[in-house]
Amino acid sequence: MSSDGQVKSRKPCTFKCLRCGLEYDGSYIPAVMEELHCPQCDSNSQRRLKEKKK
Ligand SMILES: [Zn+2]
Repeated sequence: MSSDGQVKSRKPCTFKCLRCGLEYDGSYIPAVMEELHCPQCDSNSQRRLKEKKK
């Protein structure tokens, strides 16, 4: 299979919870606005810190 253009690949990224301050690794899809939840306090106020490079 080699169909480019419809790839929804998740990018690994570090997130930080603005509520409890927890930093954790996760992933997101750039074209999709996802609501993220903190694994610790379940807040949806999450901020992307940086993308990881493979
Ligand atoms: Zn949190």
